[in-house]
Amino acid sequence: MSLAAEFHCLSDHDPDALAVDQARAFIRSQLAPLQTRERVALRSALGRVLAGDVIAPFAVPAHDNSAMDGYALRRADLSQVAGTCLRVVGTTWAGKAFAGTVAAGECVRIMTGALLPPDCDTVVMQEVVAVDGDEIIVPPGQRPGQNVRRAGEDLAAGKPALAGGRLIGPAELGLIASLGVAEVSVFRRLRVAFFSTGDELCSIGTPLGDGEVYDSNRYTIFAMLTRMGCEVLDLGVVGDRPALLEEAFRQAAAAADVVITSGGVSVGEADFVRDLMATLGEVLFWKIAMKPGRPMAFGRIRGAGEGAPGAWLFGLPGNPVAVMVAFLQFVRDALYLLMGADPVPGVPLLPAVSAVALKKSPGRTEYQRGVLADGRVRPAGAQGSGILRSMSDANCLIVLEHGRGNIAVGDPVSVQLFDGLL
Ligand code: AMP
Ligand code: MG
Repeated sequence: MSLAAEFHCLSDHDPDALAVDQARAFIRSQLAPLQTRERVALRSALGRVLAGDVIAPFAVPAHDNSAMDGYALRRADLSQVAGTCLRVVGTTWAGKAFAGTVAAGECVRIMTGALLPPDCDTVVMQEVVAVDGDEIIVPPGQRPGQNVRRAGEDLAAGKPALAGGRLIGPAELGLIASLGVAEVSVFRRLRVAFFSTGDELCSIGTPLGDGEVYDSNRYTIFAMLTRMGCEVLDLGVVGDRPALLEEAFRQAAAAADVVITSGGVSVGEADFVRDLMATLGEVLFWKIAMKPGRPMAFGRIRGAGEGAPGAWLFGLPGNPVAVMVAFLQFVRDALYLLMGADPVPGVPLLPAVSAVALKKSPGRTEYQRGVLADGRVRPAGAQGSGILRSMSDANCLIVLEHGRGNIAVGDPVSVQLFDGLL
């Protein structure tokens, strides 16, 4: 079925007033992970997606060990009503185990991470113990088995330590290292080509002409893609001329899995892009019920020859903030899905309280740049869709949902945290 036919099947989808959730769900329904694997050294796996489960070759921790600096002892020796006097017969360090045995009435000084001597099952922390020569007094009230990390309590041997589809961040890298695994199988990086459209755009390094603006979208898009671990291909600025655009689309689709453009999808500009796309592939032009970021195109550009895979296209609006908001709402999800991430990591959505009154019209989702602190959120400054300054000052987007009207001081609102994402 064609993309347009599939879109129309979903009867309540109106391309001129598409709700954010519907657009996001439709995009996701069309995509499937790319699935090409490669093996990489552990450090190179940072930011990549695991292509298969990482199995724990042994239990972690491998042996019972101490969670504290203190004394290892036998629970049967402890009195629950009075202090217990024990003789210290040795010391055990992490990496240097106590070789002797611990008899009744004895204990061993133990350091954090050190193996528990086989005769011992409980650790008492050093701070509560009174030391007298080679003897200690343990106060009553100790819990049998306390302060011991059990063998296998973190990971069981032979079980998946991490499932395929997991995005590898710092914690995952450390976890894999703790298993002694030096190489992992990951999906290949997603290749994303992008260009900006607009006769008024000037690339940095060239003096600005009359009425020109510097192209900032290629920088925000580059940055967002790079943070996601994509391989990026910057195709520069393309003027608003069909022949130039056609060449750029063909080149981008031949080189990449995904093509992202900015500008040229708003009313008035969209017409010739629409005609062009009808010959190059199949692309839907939407007006999404959102602010900022209303116009957007989504679809596929065909490959050049038989068997050529072609590329997914996201035609984002031109306004610099609209680009970032649309990327966060639609493109990020889609790219993670194509990368093989499972589950697709969502943007953290938190409850907050609005510190100010906010104007809002029902019937569209609005995203305001906000500053969240101590559960209260306020706008980060002027909200014009070209103003990157307030995007930079913000640490979140205040999400004013589709059906909502004006917000009063103290009303609950949701915020999307983008620290580290944008
Ligand atoms: P458009 O969607 O092409 O109508 O562009 C909307 C607004 O965004 C216009 O003011 C453009 O000048 C501006 N704009 C478009 N592309 C860029 C870009 N790459 N960098 C900065 N501003 C842009
Ligand atoms: Mg334009």
